[in-house]
Amino acid sequence: MSTPEPSPVASPPSGASLHTCLSCGRSLRAKGSVEFPCPDCGEPLGRCQQCRDQSVSYRCPRCGFQGP
Ligand SMILES: [Zn+2]
Ligand SMILES: [Zn+2]
Repeated sequence: MSTPEPSPVASPPSGASLHTCLSCGRSLRAKGSVEFPCPDCGEPLGRCQQCRDQSVSYRCPRCGFQGP
């Protein structure tokens, strides 16, 4: 008789969902994307290069700060 052993599952590190562009939702893995703290509340924000180039406005999900 064999008892099923719990297989070790490699779970991805949590807290990695932040790294998306605030404006378009794109992944920030692309070169040229930036992450910076919100000027108002310090919440970490991210933007891709495309949105930076086009000066697309963003809005902080935490305090509602809007800007480029
Ligand atoms: Zn973007
Ligand atoms: Zn903010």
